[in-house]
Amino acid sequence: MSLDPALRDRIIASVDQGFDQQIALSQDLIRFPSTRAQEHAVQDFVFQTLRKRGYAMDRFEMDQKALERHPGSGAFSEEHSRAPIVVGIHRPRNETGRSLILQGHVDVVPTGPTEMWTHPPFEPVIEGDWLYGRGGADMKVGLAANISALDALRRIGVQPAATIYVQSVVEEESTGNGALMAHLRGYKADAALISEPEAERLVRANVGVLWFQIEVRGFPVHVRQMGTGANAIDAAYRVIGELRRLEDEWNAEKVKHEHFKDENHPINLNIGKIEGGDWASSVPCWCKIDCRVSVYPGTSAEEAMRKITDRIAAFARSDTFLANMPPMTTFNGFQAEGYVLQPGSEAEAVLGRAHTAATGKPLGTFMTAAYLDARVYALYDKIPTLCYGGLGENIHGFDERASLASTKRITKAIALFIAEWCGTEPVNP
Ligand code: ZN
Repeated sequence: MSLDPALRDRIIASVDQGFDQQIALSQDLIRFPSTRAQEHAVQDFVFQTLRKRGYAMDRFEMDQKALERHPGSGAFSEEHSRAPIVVGIHRPRNETGRSLILQGHVDVVPTGPTEMWTHPPFEPVIEGDWLYGRGGADMKVGLAANISALDALRRIGVQPAATIYVQSVVEEESTGNGALMAHLRGYKADAALISEPEAERLVRANVGVLWFQIEVRGFPVHVRQMGTGANAIDAAYRVIGELRRLEDEWNAEKVKHEHFKDENHPINLNIGKIEGGDWASSVPCWCKIDCRVSVYPGTSAEEAMRKITDRIAAFARSDTFLANMPPMTTFNGFQAEGYVLQPGSEAEAVLGRAHTAATGKPLGTFMTAAYLDARVYALYDKIPTLCYGGLGENIHGFDERASLASTKRITKAIALFIAEWCGTEPVNP
């Protein structure tokens, strides 16, 4: 059963009407430099933003012990965020519809050298159709869209006729523990929607992601006796070479994976950070490399981790230097399994109708090679999880930006989705 056309038109007009406010909210969110572990202030702001709107509020800490007991948790390290998770809860008068989780994350990745940005990264400048700022497209604009879609309903005197949990999480960029914490807190609904910047498409399949650090130890000598030392940086390069071979093999396996076989390079290994050595004239005795690799859905994180450690160990045995000084591998972040959104769910059909009403186009699907919190809801809540949002560019790069026109379209789609999925009732008096 689809939405009443008159209500549909009123919702679309209401998103238009509230769009300036929605942009202002997005800009307010971008102004917080909420890199990892620095999200306390922005979470306070989200808490106040939701409370002002009358939602019942819940705010809770990361429970390290509970997280560590869960196979989907990422490793706790010194860098792990201690910022709370914030949930705003809408409860209808009559629970007649299907409940929903609307989720967004407020943690953002580092800016890199700020002189490479046209505008300072946390100044939300608008130029033409683009709203600039680190963490805007990914995904404060999406979080603001979730909140504004609900505002749009209320503006015309209706509210969802089912429970909605508006979740604002952290740690999406490093462990996925924020979304997992919300799951462990007990939140569950009939569907979840996460408004990541997916260029107005729905994510069909998503890889799992692992983070690991490899530490290579050497033996320091003066460079004049270089032959007698063991250069840890050179050795690290050899380990990287072996990891690249593993990456090639995993990519060759794409033919066995339905949603990945047409992708050019579905499995990406990123050597994200390297440090080592102490001095130009000493043979370096240590080197650490930080890596991120993806795995196909259906492979557990544990299994993938074993493959990586076994591979590095086997390579070390074949290398004269590394055989005596085997590298140490630590999994220090994501240990996340991928997921597939099974086609044919009612939630997908409702979003498809909402998307077409908002954009005039059919809803396309695709596979994404990035980590998504959606895996928590898909794998552990086992609910249809829709990862769907607007157009963004330069995500994780310089001059990250979100398209305003696209944001408006997906906000309309989200509002229409909520109205049909949850049903509506007059607002609480
Ligand atoms: Zn994101």
